[in-house]
Amino acid sequence: MTSEQLYCFAMVQVLLVFLLASFRLRATDQNSKALPLLQGAMGAELFSWLFYFWPLGLTLVLSLSLSALNMSLLTAFSFRRAGRPVPWQWIIPVGAALACTYSYFSYLQQQNISLHLMTLFTFLLIGPSFWCFRYLKPTPTLSDLMMAAVFLVWLLICLLRSIMLLLAPDWLLSGLLISQSFWPAVSAGYCIFALTGYMEETQRKFKAEALHDALTGLLNRRGLVHAIQGNLNYLQRQPHSSALFMIDLDHFKRINDKIGHDGGDEVLIAVAAVLQQQIRQSDVLARYGGEEFIVFLPQTDKDSAQLAAERLLLAVRSMQLPQISSLQQLTISLGIAVFDADFDFDCQLRRADHALYQAKARGRDRIEFATDCP
Ligand code: GH3
Ligand code: MG
Ligand code: MG
Repeated sequence: MTSEQLYCFAMVQVLLVFLLASFRLRATDQNSKALPLLQGAMGAELFSWLFYFWPLGLTLVLSLSLSALNMSLLTAFSFRRAGRPVPWQWIIPVGAALACTYSYFSYLQQQNISLHLMTLFTFLLIGPSFWCFRYLKPTPTLSDLMMAAVFLVWLLICLLRSIMLLLAPDWLLSGLLISQSFWPAVSAGYCIFALTGYMEETQRKFKAEALHDALTGLLNRRGLVHAIQGNLNYLQRQPHSSALFMIDLDHFKRINDKIGHDGGDEVLIAVAAVLQQQIRQSDVLARYGGEEFIVFLPQTDKDSAQLAAERLLLAVRSMQLPQISSLQQLTISLGIAVFDADFDFDCQLRRADHALYQAKARGRDRIEFATDCP
């Protein structure tokens, strides 16, 4: 076996491992359409190296055509991953032109022309792929940026190869391995970062789900603690007090009884939206339990807390909900704890809860401030 055949054999093995690994990915709804394109690209490259093992006549043409297919599918994959429509009307003719011209000139042993053409077509196909992962993909992960870096390296290799072909063609063409020594990193790079990109996205999704409430989309109890703990060091250095509102819908059981549980859910979603509209961006709103909400207001004194709480009471009281307007008015009760920077969160929760209990006992649709930590 020649050194070039050993090289092809190694590339086939690497691609086979990544292709098999890609079938272990559990594609979520938003990315299931792109995955087959990636697998197609990996498969095309794998067979391209396999046919390159015997670079003679038809196998050479097949190998180079599959390499063009690999690049075309990677471009389509990149657009899908960026959430954009795939520009097939661009990819198909460019990919076909690459396959035909690249194979034709390689077959005629005109390596100079075929390599320059390869540079041109790489810019037309891998250039947009770089753009998709670097600029078009919303909220790119670290793997997406690494993917963009791989595409950039790919472009640079082709560019440098063309420059070397003009400056020192004999040196470049003396051993094909000189220009091929970078491909393992490029191929393994796009395979691995495409796969870790999927894994990072899934991880992000699970984390968001663990911290948010599925019904209202607000933070849940764990999300609230996470958000406050994330800011705790900063808050404890501030001279201002903070406030915590514990909010409970009044007589919600009656509403559920009258309009059903699903109707009750719709009311909860509407209340969550109204509360969210009324608070500042720096405040943290969470659904704490069934029909209980919590608002954490950093840098808020007692007077500001009262004003904010009254705004919430009024906003809920003025809600126009066709399902329940003929039955009764929707109202909330609030228990408020105001505390200094150095606070114990559990203790403040108990204080706000105790104040809420008093607001209920004193007639509902009202605010009560907490006294000491019970
Ligand atoms: P109070 O004024 O004393 O708060 O009276 P209430 O009827 O609201 O009493 P409580 O707060 O104890 O009742 C909570 C009710 O909220 C019980 C349950 O049926 C309802 N609930 C809890 N979670 C959900 C939910 O996710 N969806 C719906 N529709 N109802 C819920
Ligand atoms: Mg309750
Ligand atoms: Mg209630």
